[in-house]
Formats: sequence, structure tokens, C-alpha cells
Amino acid sequence: MKHSGVLKRHQIDSAALDVTDALQEAGYQGLLVGGCVRDLLVGQNPKDFDVATDATPEQVRDLFRRARLIGRRFRIVHVRVGREVFEVSTFRRSAPADDAPVDESGEQVDRVHDAAGILLRDNVFGTLEEDAFRRDFTVNALYFDPSTEEVIDFVDGLQDLEDRTLRLIGEPKVRLTEDPVRLLRAIRFQAKLHFELERTIAREIPDVAGLLVEMPAARLFDEVSKMFLSGYGQAAWHLLCEYELNYTLFPCTPADDELIDLAMRNTDTRLADGKGVTPGFLFAVLLWRDYQALMQQALTQHKPFEAAAIAADLTFRNQQPITSIPKRISQFAKDTWALQDRMVTRAPRMIARLMSQQRFRSAYDFLVLRASAGEPELQEAADWWTNYQEQNPEIQEKMRSALAPVQNGTPKKRRRRRRKSAGAGSSSSE
Ligand code: ATP
Ligand code: MG
Repeated sequence: MKHSGVLKRHQIDSAALDVTDALQEAGYQGLLVGGCVRDLLVGQNPKDFDVATDATPEQVRDLFRRARLIGRRFRIVHVRVGREVFEVSTFRRSAPADDAPVDESGEQVDRVHDAAGILLRDNVFGTLEEDAFRRDFTVNALYFDPSTEEVIDFVDGLQDLEDRTLRLIGEPKVRLTEDPVRLLRAIRFQAKLHFELERTIAREIPDVAGLLVEMPAARLFDEVSKMFLSGYGQAAWHLLCEYELNYTLFPCTPADDELIDLAMRNTDTRLADGKGVTPGFLFAVLLWRDYQALMQQALTQHKPFEAAAIAADLTFRNQQPITSIPKRISQFAKDTWALQDRMVTRAPRMIARLMSQQRFRSAYDFLVLRASAGEPELQEAADWWTNYQEQNPEIQEKMRSALAPVQNGTPKKRRRRRRKSAGAGSSSSE
């Protein structure tokens, strides 16, 4: 179960080695574990380096100058070295709920399950071997000791890596019930590694889908964000749809929407090129159809501008109980949506004002995306904006005046439209 020669010390990030070395020099175990070992073994770049130790969180904190205890569900220590942060977690064991320590009042203190068997807290420390068995997938339970250059494998994870199989440790039903988010993790790893999901897991999906919505909305938001913003969003979205979990997480988002597909692909490409991505944009895409449908309903009772605001609020209010989206992200999406109509209409005297909007860039990207994903009638407006941004002020001026007769129709028409919308039409901020 100890394997030499599969992984070398020099493959490890030097700051991560500082952490494991410091732990070992202090007489503790200090091993790398999880995604970093897995990814290095399949020739991918690890996203981060997780450290496992037999030192308690307090002992870890006292050992490092820049260390902070975090977490409640899992108490771990964040250790900073230079600009990097490492998660150091103490070996834990997984035991039946009734095996956990009990405080004076009879409450289990360190491991807490809810009535459905979902694990709410898990802070019962254990041995290295016990720690391996409480992890989710066998390929995530491989440890690397940088001083001996040995990979430690209690769960046949190396074999599964070789077979390219994602296998849960233990009984899939039990492991997925105690933490349904493992299903989303499975999808993320499947998307990233192109591994096969062990068949017994697939069988559990319909049952787990029901449990998934019971999970804290903040955790689901984190997991969904990771799924779509880790560079394999398109593949993850396809898998989510294949397992029909897209409706669990986004009840009103269709599976076969080119808009989402393209946006995920663009996001993956940007990440691969080392560019930044904005979660707000992706949520604008994911919830766009829902927003459009709600807008149609709202338009039966409200003026366009009000209908848009009502629909946007409602879209996020409906989504909030599933994945609690932070305000700055929902606001980003709402602002992006709100500019869409005006980007298409292009009232000449609104052009400068539109361009000075904080979310102009995002609204422009969104328009371009819509034009290429099933709304070809928007292509002309999208091209116009692309062109406009590249021109000098003189040509821009010409472009604006060329818009006027086409976009505003006859004066008569224009007057009528303005009166009707009472300042609340698509050119709301006029
Ligand atoms: P990546 O960092 O590339 O997203 P990872 O496997 O390192 O993948 P982390 O979320 O960083 O994922 O978790 C580190 C390790 O902790 C995992 O590899 C796994 O061993 C364990 N782990 C994380 N989440 C769970 C969970 N929900 N249930 C059981 N073990 C988990
Ligand atoms: Mg990790």
C-alpha cells in the first residue's frame, strides 16, 4: 500500500513543501492529500495543495506564524506561505453517528447528523488510515509523503486512477446520503478528469437529487460555482443535464440551451488562457430564460421597465433557496440584463451613457453571446457595438447620426411610444 517512484518531491509546489516539512520537523505527520496528489498522478496541474496531519488544529495554528482556524463543519487551519494559502486538516475518522462523543447534556458534540442521516459536522479526529476511509472518492484518498516520496494508498485509489474510475469509498448509498454534495463533486471530477463514474453511483442519482435540495444553499452555491468556474464548466453542465440534475439546481433552466453551452465554453477558454471570469455573467446566462418567462408574465400587468425589474427580482428570489447567490453577483446579472434592450434599440443620445455604465462590457458580451446562440436578429446590433468601440470619436459621431432615422422611426411614432411608456420604457434612464 506504500508506493515509491510514482510521484517525486520536486513535482510539489515549494511553499506546500514548507508546510509539510515544518509539520514533520515538529514531530507530526505532514502529508499531501486529495486533489493535488490525484491531479499530479494523472499529469494535470493541481488547483491547490491540501495537507493532512495528526497535529490538532490548535497545534497546527501554534506552529505557523500566519495560520488561522476556520470552519465549523470541518475545523481546519489555513496556513499562509507567501501569497499561497494551504488547507491543513487533522486526520479524522468516519464512524456511525451514535459512536460520537457526547457532552454533559447528551448531545453529540463533534459529529452531528440530522434526522435524514446527513452529516452536519465532523470533527472526530482519527488515524491516517481512518482519515483515508472518511474521504469521498478512492482517487481523492491518496497521500504523498514528500520526505520519503511514497504514495500511501489504503483504498486502491491508484488502481482506480489507472482504470480512470471514480469510486466512492464504502457504500455509495450511505456516502451519498450522509453528504449529497458528493454527487456534484463526482460530476466536477468526471468533467475534469474524464473518468467513468462507478455504476452503483449512477443508480443513486434520483434519490440523491431529492436530498441535494435540502443542503444549505450557501454550500450549493459554492459547489455550483466550483463546478462551472474550474475550467471544465461545459463538460460539467452536460453531465449535470445528462443526470437530469440541472432541474434540481436550476428548475427553470432548459438542458439544451445553446446560450449556456456557448457561455460555458467561453468561460473554459478564458480560464485556460489565464483570463478572469465573472460568476455574475454565468448566473445571468443560467437564469436568462427564467427571467424572460417571468418578464412575459410581468408585462401583462406592468410597464416594460417595471416588468423587467420585477422579473429580475423574482428570478433571483426563486433561485435563492437552492443556491444562495451573493448580492453582488445577482446585481451584476440584473444590471447585465437591464441593459439588453437599450443595447439593441440604440437611441443615439443614449450611446455615451450606455457605454459609461459599469456593466456595459458585460452587457455587450451578453448581447454578442445571444446573437451567436439562437437570436441572429441581434447580430446587427452586436456588430454595430463591436465596430463602434473600435472607432475614433469622429467616426463614432457619424455612426450615431446614421442610427437616428432607422432606430427612432417617424417622429409621430416616437412621440406615441414615449407617452405610452411614461419614461418607463426601454430607455429607462432618460
Ligand atoms: P480540487 O481541489 O481539485 O477541487 P480536491 O479533491 O482537492 O479537488 P477539495 O475540496 O480541495 O477537493 O478537498 C480536498 C480533499 O478532501 C478531497 O480530495 C477529499 O479527499 C476530501 N473531501 C473534500 N470534500 C469532501 C466530502 N464532501 N466528503 C468526503 N471527503 C471530502
Ligand atoms: Mg483541493
